[in-house]
Amino acid sequence: MTMKLQDKVCIVTGAASGIGREIARTYAREGGRVAIADVKLDAAQAAVDEINAAGGRALALAMDVTSEEQVDAGIAQVVAAWGGIDVLVANAGVQIVHPVEEFPFADWKRMLAIHLDGAFLTTKACVPHMKASGKGGSIIYMGSVHSKEASVLKSAYVTAKHGLIGLCKTVAKEGGKHGIRANVICPGFVRTALVEKQIPEQSRALGISEEDVVKKVMLKDTVDGEFTTVQDVAEVALLFASFESNALTGQSLVVSHGWFMQ
Ligand code: NAD
Repeated sequence: MTMKLQDKVCIVTGAASGIGREIARTYAREGGRVAIADVKLDAAQAAVDEINAAGGRALALAMDVTSEEQVDAGIAQVVAAWGGIDVLVANAGVQIVHPVEEFPFADWKRMLAIHLDGAFLTTKACVPHMKASGKGGSIIYMGSVHSKEASVLKSAYVTAKHGLIGLCKTVAKEGGKHGIRANVICPGFVRTALVEKQIPEQSRALGISEEDVVKKVMLKDTVDGEFTTVQDVAEVALLFASFESNALTGQSLVVSHGWFMQ
């Protein structure tokens, strides 16, 4: 059976948990060599051990994506180990919710740093290797339905996730002649640690039960009241990573059970 990412060198940030971890598993299953970059090194190592035990190839990188030094050192480590970079998934992210007038400035800056500086720094570090190989590559940004739509309490997240679309389109234009593609995945709510944390927070902030946060806020506008799964998102990440031509670049694909339709 041919594998879709045979020997491709892939870096997934924030891959110690949730969506990133499932993308790393999926890429490894498809023959990719996967670097799992995260601030949580123990959890990253556990993800690596799981992939290697299943016959895949993975390595862990201690990387805070807001640090240019750590990003550059991590990418250099991958290139030293595996000779280049074919796929980058800029996925690391957190959520902080407050009404805009109460949003601590430090939290606002942290949100933009993790989501936007992280995507920029990893892109900047990977593009030269994608150019140098002559093979180009695929850059995937983890956006959100909040790259297209807004929700109350999420000013920083919505601003950052919209910003990723601008970065993606620019990287797609600059990368075209080098075969470097850039796309954004825009998931609806996926029940990861990031979302589990929000349920009680939103319940308190909105004065409604946790059950109502799920039913009446998070999944209200889906076609079927269902959460998107990590596997759903990983399948889209596999499509973007393995698509061979510039026909599919500069795009953002919503995977949200119809919450947002465009
Ligand atoms: P998660 O909390 O399960 O995983 C996020 C990972 O990012 C964690 O392992 C964390 O340690 C890591 N991380 C955080 N800050 C970092 C930093 N500065 N440097 C490196 N790693 C860092 O969350 P998730 O739900 O899997 O989220 C992954 C991405 O998907 C995020 O960008 C998030 O915004 C996006 N997203 C999530 C949902 C959802 O409903 N869960 C929906 C749309 C988009």
